[in-house]
Amino acid sequence: MQEQNEPTPLSKVGEFNLIDKLTEKIKIYNKSTILGVGDDAAIINHNECHTLISTDMLVEGIHFDLLYTPLKHLGYKAVITNLSDIYAMNAEPRQITVSIAASNRISVEALEEIYEGINLACECYKVDLVGGDTTSSLSGLIISVTVMGSAKEEKIVRRCGAQENDLICVSGDLGAAFAGLQLLEREKSIFNENQHIQPDFDGKDYVLERQLKPEARKDIIDFFEQEGILPTSMIDISDGLSSELLHLAKNSKVGLLVYEDKIPIDLMTITTMEEFNLNPLTAALNGGEDYELLFTLPLSYHDKIKNAEDIHIIGHITDKIEGCHLIPTGSGSLIELKAQGWQSKMNE
Ligand code: ADP
Ligand code: MG
Repeated sequence: MQEQNEPTPLSKVGEFNLIDKLTEKIKIYNKSTILGVGDDAAIINHNECHTLISTDMLVEGIHFDLLYTPLKHLGYKAVITNLSDIYAMNAEPRQITVSIAASNRISVEALEEIYEGINLACECYKVDLVGGDTTSSLSGLIISVTVMGSAKEEKIVRRCGAQENDLICVSGDLGAAFAGLQLLEREKSIFNENQHIQPDFDGKDYVLERQLKPEARKDIIDFFEQEGILPTSMIDISDGLSSELLHLAKNSKVGLLVYEDKIPIDLMTITTMEEFNLNPLTAALNGGEDYELLFTLPLSYHDKIKNAEDIHIIGHITDKIEGCHLIPTGSGSLIELKAQGWQSKMNE
């Protein structure tokens, strides 16, 4: 934020100049965008498809810390977290709006950096920025993104369709963003005590990137399309595997069994968590911000996914009466899954 020599205070440029500055580099990628920024409202035409809408707000001090969050990454992440919700419905994100409340502490250049990240995410995922709002804030920075997506009705996947015996799958690996956050928080407290000590992030790029610059799993949705796969239920993993599993089970009115040794955790997540004397499994189950996809598939799809590089079968759906359980590695006994409080059980 302080990289520029003379940051321009927001009060120096009017609201309209600021909006012009922030929106001048916008490119349009979708033909469903009839009209973007510049009028009282954007015009979207999703034709014969359903429109899906989701929104997420990021609040300084709650969702991000400007001390260690590069502004460009912040803009990128604000978009990604929204896109992930649309992919989790097996739909394509098409348009976003971005609303920003900033205090005078934030310079014009800082907002432009945030927009660089926003524009980059739009380019990478071919999403159009079609509007927003800009206002001032007396305290911290707030970024709110709304995303619109589209999909044919019959392709849309909800949380509620999981059936007994379905396979439970996750994409990628889990817990890395949480491990990255531990590192950033540790370096922040060291920095707060002695501002001359340089952060020590050697060899930790993967977990840091997962925290600061996450990606959404468009590739998984594309893979489903290519292979003719339609999950029975799906959700994105933003609050930790444990709570997302419980959402799927509750919405689908089923139970489930998950095997600890099947849960994908990257080696760097494991070593980082161990440095903090924390159980890596805790990062995967309760960490959050992974933006991976959790979905269920009928057994008949097993052959189609068994060789998919980044899809892991972690368990199966059971009858509701059996509840939601984890089978720890090397043990036949069951541990009941809980969204919170699970960690304390592990430490007993
Ligand atoms: P109104 O007074 O109708 O709310 P604004 O002056 O707030 O209009 O916005 C003018 C245009 O700029 C609108 O198309 C709006 O969607 C767009 N816009 C405003 N703020 C942003 C922003 N932060 N990012 C992207 N577009 C924005
Ligand atoms: Mg406005």
